[in-house]
Amino acid sequence: AIGYLNGKIISSNDPVLPIDERGHQFGDGVYEVIRVYNGRAFMMAEHMDRFFKSAEAIKLNLGKSSGEILEIVHDLIERSGFRDCDVYMQATRGIAPRNHLFPNVPASISMTVKPSKYVDEEIRSNGAKVKLLPDERWQNCWIKSLNLLPNILAKQEAFEAGALEAVLIREGYITEGSSSNFFIVKNGEIWTAPATNHILHGITRIAVKEMASELGIPLREQAFTPDEMFAADEAFITSTTQEILPVVEADGQKIGDGKPGKVALKLYERFLEKI
Ligand code: PLP
Repeated sequence: AIGYLNGKIISSNDPVLPIDERGHQFGDGVYEVIRVYNGRAFMMAEHMDRFFKSAEAIKLNLGKSSGEILEIVHDLIERSGFRDCDVYMQATRGIAPRNHLFPNVPASISMTVKPSKYVDEEIRSNGAKVKLLPDERWQNCWIKSLNLLPNILAKQEAFEAGALEAVLIREGYITEGSSSNFFIVKNGEIWTAPATNHILHGITRIAVKEMASELGIPLREQAFTPDEMFAADEAFITSTTQEILPVVEADGQKIGDGKPGKVALKLYERFLEKI
């Protein structure tokens, strides 16, 4: 697949990254994942807004305007020839000899465009299983930082237990998934954790809020416990790549009737209309 690194078009397999790149050395950077449907990037403005907010939060000057970055993205999508693809965009604090202190060099910006990877058919139709695990991340999960070690460890542990996603618990409350936001539905009402510093403010989460409002389904941004999740009628996760995905089981225990929920399916139907 095609890629971009600091002004050059590359193949995503090219060995282009210097050892002293700070993303590689420190995970000192931020990223975005954007899905393109039929040649159009979904909720691009929201992704760019979050990219700049994440960069600002780590005191990283991107050295480019959002218009300039958009131009690169659109050029890359066109060159890729893909109509349905995932854009990965990363910015780091540049290339400089290893030293914790900020170097005085330009930010390094890289991207790849690859064909979209969709959720497995079987999981899409029957719903996903999740595993509950402690949220061991830092206090600034709203920043889309490259430092994903706690997320990776949780996801791997969930996978080894036969689950698709790890759902994380901080101080007794569910925050989000390792790479998704998490929702329950109870008595026709959607619940999801509030957009504090303890979750990533998901773009698909924003889409769900908008669609719930359009469909007249009440949505509460309120933290809930695992017990409340087990007592819910349904659950689902959202992310750019997993879209809206029903969750039917947590820790081997059914949620609701153990089948994809009506509200999740209705939201997904609406989502497919939107994209
Ligand atoms: N939460 C975490 C920790 C994530 O990594 C992601 C996306 O990968 C999300 C939530 C969902 O965010 P979005 O809908 O913007 O993809």
